[in-house]
Amino acid sequence: MDAEVTIFDKIISGQIKANIVYQDDLCLAFHDVNPQAPVHILLIPKQRNGLTQLSKAQEHNKEVLGHLLFTVTKIVELVDELKKGFRVVINDGENGGQSVWHLHLHIIGGEQLTWPPGSSGSSKK
Ligand code: 5GP
Repeated sequence: MDAEVTIFDKIISGQIKANIVYQDDLCLAFHDVNPQAPVHILLIPKQRNGLTQLSKAQEHNKEVLGHLLFTVTKIVELVDELKKGFRVVINDGENGGQSVWHLHLHIIGGEQLTWPPGSSGSSKK
């Protein structure tokens, strides 16, 4: 699956335009095209390097995984609407609702968020 080009490769290469919030050598953050809250930013590693999804992470991905989480704090510094709080979500796999096979963090905020997040409720006690 790693060879498969995703929409995020096209955003990284500039082939598809995105509203970029932050980038450095290792990662890129941009606004989600279909926001689920007033602020909805996606943060991705520039090199997928096997990280099609979080559950595929290996030892050699640890540095970039830490970098992504640390970068969230930089994004919060840049985006005032996130300063009162936010949520970081990683959807993994089919049941997690993942649709793009390139690891990404959703950074969601800009309003009071509700909890818990989506479940069909079929197994709720
Ligand atoms: P997932 O469902 O895999 O957790 O999240 C994928 C996210 O990518 C979705 O929230 C979707 O709206 C976003 N997305 C898909 N295609 C594009 C695009 O072309 N541009 C941007 N900015 N976001 C996209």
